[in-house]
Amino acid sequence: MISAYRLLAQKCDYPLHLGVTEAGTERMGLIKSAIGIGSLLCDGIGDTIRVSLTDEPIREIYAAKDILKAVGKRGGVRIVSCPTCGRTAIDLIGLAKRVEEALRGCEKDITVAVMGCAVNGIGEAGEADVGIAGGNGNAVIFKKGRMLRTVAESEALGELLKEIETL
Ligand code: SF4
Repeated sequence: MISAYRLLAQKCDYPLHLGVTEAGTERMGLIKSAIGIGSLLCDGIGDTIRVSLTDEPIREIYAAKDILKAVGKRGGVRIVSCPTCGRTAIDLIGLAKRVEEALRGCEKDITVAVMGCAVNGIGEAGEADVGIAGGNGNAVIFKKGRMLRTVAESEALGELLKEIETL
C-alpha cells in the first residue's frame, strides 16, 4: 500500500484517498493503519483517509482522528502521560484512561499531561497546557510546569476538567 501510493504520487497529481484495507481488529488494524496512512501523510502524500477496522464504526472515526493528530495534521486534545515507575503511588493507568475518555469530544487544541509523580512529572510535562501529577492519595494540578494546587485523588479528574474549562 505504501509503495503503491508513493509510486502513484510520483506519476500523477490527483488527490489521493489513503486506507489500509482488511487491516483487522482494533489493535492490529490501528497499528497497520497508523503505519500505512501515517507514513504517507508524513511524506506529504494523501488528501483524504479512511481507517477500516473490524469493530464499531465509531472506533474507525476515533482511530482516524488520532492518526491525524499524531502526524500533526489535526488539532485537538493531545494527551501525554508517563509510563509509571516505582514512584507512582496512584492508579495512573486508570486515571489516564478516564482523562482520555472524558476529553474524547473536546475540540480545544491543547496538551494535557497525566503524570505519575510531582517530583519528575511536572518538569517533564512542562510544555503541557495543563496537567495532573500523582502523589500519595492525592494529586497536583499544574499549568505550564507551574503547580496550582493539591487535590484528593478521588477529585483529581473533576479538578483537571475544571481547569481545562478555563482554557
Ligand atoms: S513522571 Fe514520575 S512516576 Fe512517571 S515515570 Fe517519571 S518518575 Fe516515574
